Amino acid sequence: NTFAEIDLGEELNLNIQRCKYVKPTPVQRHAIPISLSGRDLMACAQTGSGKTAAFCFPIISGIMRGEYVQRPRAPRTSYPLALILSPTRELSCQIHDEARKFSYQTGVKVVVAYGGAPINQQLRELERGVDILVATPGRLVDLLERARVSLQVIRYLALDEADRMLDMGFEPQIRKIVEQMGMPPPGVRQTMLFSATFPKEIQRLACDFLSNYIFLAV
Ligand code: AMP
Repeated sequence: NTFAEIDLGEELNLNIQRCKYVKPTPVQRHAIPISLSGRDLMACAQTGSGKTAAFCFPIISGIMRGEYVQRPRAPRTSYPLALILSPTRELSCQIHDEARKFSYQTGVKVVVAYGGAPINQQLRELERGVDILVATPGRLVDLLERARVSLQVIRYLALDEADRMLDMGFEPQIRKIVEQMGMPPPGVRQTMLFSATFPKEIQRLACDFLSNYIFLAV
């Protein structure tokens, strides 16, 4: 019933201590072991439930202990290993801030890209290297069309507040993004879908994007 008991790795555990997290919240207690086991996950979780850590911890831990992934050499194209999609600039920045604290001194690089702001600064950040990309769907489609980001080696995909993304009309962009990743061989890419509600549209996304997934409601 503490984070120390979950096998997340020494560096990440140290950062969790630095954040003064001791006890996992209910969504963390269930979602983290499921994700560490490699299964896809559909989780119903509200804002404030601690869902950010629930998807960030397995991603960071997985990248740190993952097999070396050969990334193509293309100076202007970034090849993140993990993608976290979120509906708004505010939420993306919040996730980015938290993910950076969790990945402090681990060598795992986190970059954020959102719309409604100049793209140049974001392009410069991407050029410095990125392992985890936090993005809003519209800006990511833009980056993909400019070939500044490739999703060819994505190992972890998290969709946060999926119901809100659909309410905001992002379904076409999300489908375009996920289609770019193609169908990986089983076990290569892991997907986590987080949503406060579970209407038909979200069930359809889960059917289309997840394979053999575990459903979690807390
Ligand atoms: P979230 O639902 O991810 O937006 O998290 C809500 C708030 O709870 C954030 O300020 C987190 O930093 C905090 N938080 C998340 N998990 C824990 C935990 N296990 N212990 C203490 N605080 C936490």
